[in-house]
Amino acid sequence: MTLKKLVAGNWKMHGVSADLAEVSAIAEAAKERLSVDVALCLPAILIERAVRAVPGFTIGGQDVHFAPKGAHTGCVSAEMLVDAGATLTIVGHSERRDAQREADADVKAKAEAALASGLSVILCVGESLHVRDSGSAVPTVDTQLAASLPADPHGALAVAYEPIWAIGTGKIPSVDDIAEMHAALRQRLISTYGEAGAQVRILYGGSVKASNAAEIFAIRDVDGALVGGASLKADDFLPIVDAAARI
Ligand code: PEP
Repeated sequence: MTLKKLVAGNWKMHGVSADLAEVSAIAEAAKERLSVDVALCLPAILIERAVRAVPGFTIGGQDVHFAPKGAHTGCVSAEMLVDAGATLTIVGHSERRDAQREADADVKAKAEAALASGLSVILCVGESLHVRDSGSAVPTVDTQLAASLPADPHGALAVAYEPIWAIGTGKIPSVDDIAEMHAALRQRLISTYGEAGAQVRILYGGSVKASNAAEIFAIRDVDGALVGGASLKADDFLPIVDAAARI
């Protein structure tokens, strides 16, 4: 089954007011590429200004706390993201799993809190280079996904397979390795959610660029991309969106 592709940018800790011009350029161009869903996940502090600048375009957060409110200094709740105008959030990015010691159970709780608040969710999983080299990438990531999945996808869940060693490095797995992983994740989604699991988009993330996007999007069960560095500038990001539109 072919699902509409989703190309989402993850700006990480990049972006101040001056960069809203890039958000506007991307949002304007997205209006003409209706065969692809396009989104930008921005620093929390920039979300409200971006939503005002580009009403109707999908703006997301990069993380959300699982609690609705409380003594969690520096954290952002799902209600706060919604209040700022976000309609999407990333959870479980490897940079948070590593640096903030987020466990699968935390990621699951975050996904459930976000979905319950009406946000769409991109849930990230991926293996380290050590795991890839040891030959156990597929069972490792499958186990990670199984333990991170929310109880109900609410028709608003996407999964991003992001090998940690491919993020920001310029390295990507082979076509066969991406295909093998995405097929395993699809099986996991179907065994967890039944028919609804076939509708969950599985994005690839890790050093996606204009030069490799077409090859990646042509792989079975690659339903879009989560893009870091190449999403910061419209000139780098839009050719990736165009590659998705051509599939
Ligand atoms: C990411 O961090 O989600 C990512 C995919 O980054 P990059 O595209 O820069 O590898």
